[in-house]
Amino acid sequence: MAETALLELDGVQAWYGASHVLHGISLRVNEGEVVALVGRNGAGKTTTLRTVMGLMPKAEGRVRFAGQDLLPLAAHRRFHLGLAYVPEERRIVPGLSVRENLRLGLVAANADIEERAAFAEIAETFPRLRERLDQEGVTLSGGEQQMLAIARALIAKPKMVLLDEPSEGIMPVLVEEMGVLFRRLRDQGKTLLLVEQNVEWALRLADRAVIIDQGEVVHESSAAALLADKDIQDRYCAV
Ligand code: ATP
Repeated sequence: MAETALLELDGVQAWYGASHVLHGISLRVNEGEVVALVGRNGAGKTTTLRTVMGLMPKAEGRVRFAGQDLLPLAAHRRFHLGLAYVPEERRIVPGLSVRENLRLGLVAANADIEERAAFAEIAETFPRLRERLDQEGVTLSGGEQQMLAIARALIAKPKMVLLDEPSEGIMPVLVEEMGVLFRRLRDQGKTLLLVEQNVEWALRLADRAVIIDQGEVVHESSAAALLADKDIQDRYCAV
């Protein structure tokens, strides 16, 4: 079967004010693929995700998603195309219950989704959240909040999810649980772009790996090949 690119970046550059951070990133994520985007601190991984989501003050080049050019589109229009984003800082809204935070995911996507069915599916996938639907979201543990942020991204059935360091600061038992969840999502054919510092963990989940260094792609291979190549991991991913 021919591989269909769902997300394609071609020569993408981005700036924070006068600071030129991305210097021509080209990468693709095919439909149904899990791609790990790795590299050391400050390499430009978060900036790459922010550029795709329309959150950078200045970006150039070409970003295509599901056949559409993204760069001219406002951030909220990108959500409406079926692109979901779980930022590193999670953004669980204070004063809202778990249920209300999840509902925001439906509102942001503006998709024609039946709420009851969507909640039933989330409850099945995230048993920890099912037990805490009426609890205030920000009172969950850090790992549970991360699960909530992921569930909120998934609830409107996006075509693709971008995740920024989901395992960061989370206790090992929940990182394990998250690994099981991502494998399940992969088996369901979901398309994920996963930024991670926890390189080995990410490579065990992913189909393919891309390394960024100083705002440029320096390596691309299967995740298994990079997992086996300690030299390249040490050269570009050592913290
Ligand atoms: P980390 O894991 O540390 O977040 P990263 O690979 O995600 O690393 P980015 O956050 O994309 O890296 O940062 C890329 C570069 O852009 C770094 O040099 C960083 O200092 C710079 N940068 C990030 N955010 C800003 C900002 N708001 N203003 C100015 N420069 C920034």
